[in-house]
Amino acid sequence: MQTLKIYDYPIYIGDIWQEFDDFLKKNNYHKIFILIDENTEKHCFSRFIQRFPTFSTYNIAIRAGEIEKNMDTCQAIWQAMFEHGGDRKSLMLNLGGGVIGDIGGFAAATFKRGIDFIQMPTTLLSQVDSSIGGKLGLDFHGIKNSIGVFANPKAVFILPDFLETLSAREIRSGFAEIIKHALIADAKQWAKLKKIRDLTTVDWTKIITPSLKIKQRIVKIDPFERGLRKALNFGHTIGHAVESMALTTPNSLTHGEAIAIGMICEAYLSTLITEFPETELTEIATFIFDIYEKYNIQQFDFQHLIALMQQDKKNETDDINFTLLHKIGTPLVNKTATIEQIKDSLMFYNTYEIT
Ligand code: NAD
Repeated sequence: MQTLKIYDYPIYIGDIWQEFDDFLKKNNYHKIFILIDENTEKHCFSRFIQRFPTFSTYNIAIRAGEIEKNMDTCQAIWQAMFEHGGDRKSLMLNLGGGVIGDIGGFAAATFKRGIDFIQMPTTLLSQVDSSIGGKLGLDFHGIKNSIGVFANPKAVFILPDFLETLSAREIRSGFAEIIKHALIADAKQWAKLKKIRDLTTVDWTKIITPSLKIKQRIVKIDPFERGLRKALNFGHTIGHAVESMALTTPNSLTHGEAIAIGMICEAYLSTLITEFPETELTEIATFIFDIYEKYNIQQFDFQHLIALMQQDKKNETDDINFTLLHKIGTPLVNKTATIEQIKDSLMFYNTYEIT
């Protein structure tokens, strides 16, 4: 068992159950709500209840997927909490991936001006990234995460065993944030990651903690994203736009798949804007294309993607804001690119010759 800390909240990684039990005994909540989706109800809640058979909770179940990270679902969560005796001394336990953590945390942080919540992440993506850092929210008006707050959980409990039931596609999705952490902060970790050829043989327990530590370090220094934390947005300006657009089509992408596309495009922009070496761009693109299937971004969608990027909440002026790389491990925040450069980067992705 490993324990990390951000400010006053602990992050337990490993065999978490003793700490979880202690946490509940210490806090003596009136009511415990567990937010789950259809998959975590099946695969994770059962594991949980086996361990605590007499545990009394009220489960709030939502459908799975990014499409549910919206205001209607949030209202349904608030409604369930009102109807089942939620008060200021209630706890929300978010048992699921990033969607559950983001919307459940948001619902809890705003219910009766805020109740305690804990994150029990069950996807690779949420275990290495979204469960820490205090960003909560939902998608609104077709724009990812455009409504939200910063609020911290009381604790984060990471049980890598939950990953046993996760699909290969969702493992790949989480791996994108692991790649991102290495590219923005740890060239040595990137050197190790780029040797990986088969994600089914990776021992994730060895990768979760170093990856999480990168985010922990950054978030501790800059909790409200005034400077350094923007580094975590590498791949996300273009990635979020592609993800939002894909969500409205039959070929939706997972968050990580979209971020993988964004990282290729933004590494390309880095070669234009920050003198990022082309050899490293080729290395990143080759590695990502080796793992992620190529997605067809239609040229006639470029303008729509730009419009989505212009709505990105990270922009501070009329320009579109990026985090780019100067070299691997060294990010540069608050960089802007012209519309033509952004379109070129999408074209670079589209026309990249996979060897
Ligand atoms: P997700 O929550 O939709 O989970 C992916 C899929 O895996 C879902 O179908 C879910 O039901 C299923 N699942 C979850 N755990 C499972 C398990 N153990 N076994 C089998 N199936 C399981 O998505 P995600 O990839 O975890 O998270 C993506 C979300 O996280 C996006 O909304 C993104 O914006 C957000 N995010 C937030 C932050 C942050 O700092 N708050 C950071 C990165 C990403």
